[in-house]
Amino acid sequence: MTAQIIDGKTISKKIQAEIGTAAGQFFDATGVKPKLAAVLVGDDPASQVYVRNKERACERANIESELFRLPSSATTDEVVGLVQKLNEDSQVHGILVQLPLPDQVDALQVLDTVDPKKDVDAFHPENVGLLSQGRPRFLPCTPFGIIHLLANSGIETSGKNVCIVGRSDIVGKPMALMLAQRDSELGSQYANATVSLCHSRTKDLVAYTKMADILIAAIGKPEFIKAEHIKPGAVVIDVGINRTDDGLVGDVDFDSAAEVASRITPVPGGVGPMTVTILLDNTLKAARLQQ
Ligand code: NDP
Repeated sequence: MTAQIIDGKTISKKIQAEIGTAAGQFFDATGVKPKLAAVLVGDDPASQVYVRNKERACERANIESELFRLPSSATTDEVVGLVQKLNEDSQVHGILVQLPLPDQVDALQVLDTVDPKKDVDAFHPENVGLLSQGRPRFLPCTPFGIIHLLANSGIETSGKNVCIVGRSDIVGKPMALMLAQRDSELGSQYANATVSLCHSRTKDLVAYTKMADILIAAIGKPEFIKAEHIKPGAVVIDVGINRTDDGLVGDVDFDSAAEVASRITPVPGGVGPMTVTILLDNTLKAARLQQ
């Protein structure tokens, strides 16, 4: 292996400690402890693990969290009703609706109900619109987590070719928007990229991935990206979390990719912990906004 590991666990620990200090200072100044309300519908095992990890991270960062559970038989009206109650609760600063929701629940209607000032996942159309105009309120957790990973590893994006594979509303599309902006919260050196946003209809995917100085895989297919997709010396960011018989694997074939890339994120321990970290940051930001 030639690539150096980008250690998301260590970087997220450092940032979470900084958020914990800032949340403590905020409490000293205002008497308010930032609070995240997590909504979990049904009993999907992976969702339960994600929510538990988020609760634990909150505890470490001086942020209060409370879990609101509904049964897997819940209707759209019931979930919307719970979100409305949390919108009105002045003790709650951030609302997280854990996805996926059961099939009978209209996820868009639920997410659109979240008060945009409490929308710590940045899924509400108002927050997506602000982001697309380059004046974001909250930044979506996974893409902003990736920018923090790059910044903490000294990897600038300005002027670089970045290829993102996957155009989902929660990862690929906002990642492309953020990297193509003129500026970022961490400085213009972590924006200003030339971005290709690839998807399942992209013709000759390798031509795009091979041009990339930074390749970001958010596909949801185990070990899809191989060494032949990667330009020698490129930075590879693996967003994928796939459960297989061999355990958790990313969207990148780590062993072959690590022979070609200069830096690479592992799965687990790469992007995942950063997503949770930005959720904490957004909850503190939401508490500040609501003072
Ligand atoms: P989606 O399933 O919503 O999107 C997958 C994207 O990959 C789509 O745009 C799809 O294209 C594209 N795609 C599928 N097959 C191909 C192909 N053969 N060639 C090129 N593009 C392809 O995924 P998400 O963005 O929600 O998640 C992606 C992965 O990231 C998953 O493994 C998920 O678990 C993980 N994830 C990890 C997070 C973390 O914190 N680390 C957070 C969120 C997600 P098309 O649009 O044409 O269908």
